[in-house]
Amino acid sequence: MQLRIISTAGVPSFLQQRLPPKLVEIFRPHFNGYLLDSVDDPLLVAYDARRRQYRADVILRHLVKETTGGVTLVITDLDVYVPDLNFVFGLCSGRAALVSIRRLDPAFYGMPPDRDVLWGRTLKEAVHEIGHAFGLSHCPDPGCVMSFSNSILDVDKKSPNFCGRCRDKLFTS
Ligand SMILES: [Zn+2]
Ligand SMILES: [Zn+2]
Repeated sequence: MQLRIISTAGVPSFLQQRLPPKLVEIFRPHFNGYLLDSVDDPLLVAYDARRRQYRADVILRHLVKETTGGVTLVITDLDVYVPDLNFVFGLCSGRAALVSIRRLDPAFYGMPPDRDVLWGRTLKEAVHEIGHAFGLSHCPDPGCVMSFSNSILDVDKKSPNFCGRCRDKLFTS
């Protein structure tokens, strides 16, 4: 099946270029190729002026009308949340997933820009959300990419790889 990636304005081009082929490689043979789209939509439909944040689920519904025969991943630099949470790094609903790089960027924490750090974190969260799209749930193994990340420290602690159990589930079902 195809991986479709939609990036919103503000996502660095090196991420847009490196992410799709890497994800296809990681999820092979589930994916056999990718499509790359970008949107200029300011996504005001999802904006909460009081919180100065965007609703992740609203963005997803707005940008992904259908996922026929594939998985769609939205990459955005907007700060996103869902009701009852202060923020989320990402979200998955059915075969549609979203990752926000806003809080994965060292700059958000007042650190100097670091492309390698941003890349590593974005890859982990993208693999995590697509793992959900293939039916994986959160994993109790803190090193597994499917472990839940509550903070950037959790993201940095886990690896970009699936533990044996998640790997089996992903590739034998
Ligand atoms: Zn998750
Ligand atoms: Zn696992």
